[in-house]
Amino acid sequence: MNAARKLGRVRRLVVKVGSGLVTAAGVGAAPERIGALAADIAAIREGRRIVLVSSGAIATGTARLGLPERPRSIPEKQAAAAVGQSALMWQYEAAFGRHQIQVGQVLLTAQDISDRARYLNAKNTLLALLQFGVLPIVNENDTVAVEEIKVGDNDNLSALVASLIDADLLVLLTDVDGLYTDDPSVNTGARKLDTVDAVTDEIARLARDRGDPISVGGMATKLQAARKAAAAGVPMIIASGREPGMLRRILDGEPVGTYFAPKADRLGARKRWIAFAVPPQGRLTVDAGALAALTQRGKSLLPSGIVEIQGDFASGEVVALLGGAGGREFARGVVNFDAAELRKIRGAKTQEIEQRLGYKSFDEVIHRDNLVIL
Ligand code: GLU
Repeated sequence: MNAARKLGRVRRLVVKVGSGLVTAAGVGAAPERIGALAADIAAIREGRRIVLVSSGAIATGTARLGLPERPRSIPEKQAAAAVGQSALMWQYEAAFGRHQIQVGQVLLTAQDISDRARYLNAKNTLLALLQFGVLPIVNENDTVAVEEIKVGDNDNLSALVASLIDADLLVLLTDVDGLYTDDPSVNTGARKLDTVDAVTDEIARLARDRGDPISVGGMATKLQAARKAAAAGVPMIIASGREPGMLRRILDGEPVGTYFAPKADRLGARKRWIAFAVPPQGRLTVDAGALAALTQRGKSLLPSGIVEIQGDFASGEVVALLGGAGGREFARGVVNFDAAELRKIRGAKTQEIEQRLGYKSFDEVIHRDNLVIL
């Protein structure tokens, strides 16, 4: 748990701020907080390309519509987001305008990132904005994102964006100053972790959420984001967004917040997309032999190792692979067959595939190059 922080030169940075930081109960988007954030970003912007991921649309819309509390129904939340998003952007326009920084609104859904063509579009748009010297401000497209196409929280979204633009660092600014061994408001012995090598299950258990009415994610989603960022080779820091100058201090290498180390064996962009951007469209359970061949010997998945097929997917879509005790998900990959074909060839030896399908097709269900062990 004590890896040294390794921040090389940070040229591309993604900063995520939660609703709790940029809004205030009853008023929504809070100009003084947004002003302070803009000043902090302006102070470190020289020589860097920065993307801001900001929540706060629903909280702002809730206040603007005069609702007593955050709405519960999805259409009402979406309506609040529509009202709040423009009000929020208006505040960002004004705040960054004082520092001569132009902003651009980018609204994404999980679908925009899960479809390979749309993923590349989103990436190219962000890169073009950065090229123009614009500060992209990203949020989930709440007005159209119903559950199935939602990332759900901006912590995970910010990790996807960091991966998308190959960021050198992802900073999550939040209400707490890092990850603690226990809830510091309850346990005075709780200790803040300075660095985390890997988000193990033990680390993930530290995230006991308080159920804050404004913050959507809490620690659990921050740790999911840390896993995604690590796999993408992007270091991540959780730090307090309440202290002015935090971004400067982070970039100066001060040991503030909690640092999450990136994985050394960084996945390539396409594999990252397979592993994290896409909600899997089906699940294949494999036998022990296939599990070992895939995880230890670097083999492709063949029909003979598949014991169960769940879901209705097309060839070319991403599926999850389950295996071992408890049938845990251990890999994801792009399948060469659709679900109906796969049901016909499940358990078959390679030389039986053609006969069972009635035509010649692939030997592998998932080729090694399209497979990511998680
Ligand atoms: N996209 C939501 C909003 O702007 C918030 C999601 C989050 O806070 O993680 O209100």
